[in-house]
Amino acid sequence: MKRVGAHVSIAGGVENAPLNAAAIGAKAFAMFTKNQRQWQSKPLETKQIDVFKNNLEEGGFRPQDVLPHDGYLINLGNPDPEKRQQSLEAFIDELERCRLLGLTCLNFHPGSHLRKISVEACLSLISESLNRALDQSQGVTAVIENTAGQGSNLGHTFEQIAQIIDQVEDKSRIGVCLDTCHTFTSGYDLRTPESYQQTMELFGRVVGFDYLRGMHLNDSKPDLGSRVDRHHSLGEGKLGLDPFRFIMNDPTFDEIPLVLETIDSTIWDQEIQLLYRFAGGEEA
Ligand SMILES: [Zn+2]
Ligand SMILES: [Zn+2]
Repeated sequence: MKRVGAHVSIAGGVENAPLNAAAIGAKAFAMFTKNQRQWQSKPLETKQIDVFKNNLEEGGFRPQDVLPHDGYLINLGNPDPEKRQQSLEAFIDELERCRLLGLTCLNFHPGSHLRKISVEACLSLISESLNRALDQSQGVTAVIENTAGQGSNLGHTFEQIAQIIDQVEDKSRIGVCLDTCHTFTSGYDLRTPESYQQTMELFGRVVGFDYLRGMHLNDSKPDLGSRVDRHHSLGEGKLGLDPFRFIMNDPTFDEIPLVLETIDSTIWDQEIQLLYRFAGGEEA
């Protein structure tokens, strides 16, 4: 079965996320575990955690149907040791928040070299940070998201993702999330049956589907290979609807969170219905 949802709001507290997801007909969802634009947040309260778990169960979600996303300030490959340490501590705190909420994964963008060090050196720093983070936390898998490769952001080629994984000691707690917009703007086409097949085969060969823990389903404002990260509503951008038809009919993506991060949250319920219609074989 396919599990589609969206990156829902935590306004008023993380415990509201499952309610927001259930309200749009989602069977999976993403969320932040704290304010994504701040380094510090108050610890989660026991009461809050209990309500979250209760809301999760009532909404029919399993822990693995939730793919939390880390904050925007974290850069595990920051060339500056002090800033990297700050990122590492924030990342460990987020892994711990996920564990407290009973969740199994934390999705993150690998990191940026900020044009101060080489790509290779930065990839090694990211792996080193991950080794430390996994060592100092328990139970939660760190899920690398592929990026558009905007600016100096790494993780825009499957080879870079493989290289990060290669240098991580505990591979049982490393996963990957593929974002359709990022995949496309970083240069991998998905628009025809042939190009979709080719891109997926390449991912399988270079990274491996065993690592795949979720997907972000976004159309793209910019074109193939533009290395610009701008999402669009499904069918409104350069990808069009076909890639989402292919995904919804591909058993590879059963039982993992398929999460919309499209730009108009008021139509998420309709986009979710559209995707389920694709999975049902109906042409829309
Ligand atoms: Zn994404
Ligand atoms: Zn993006």
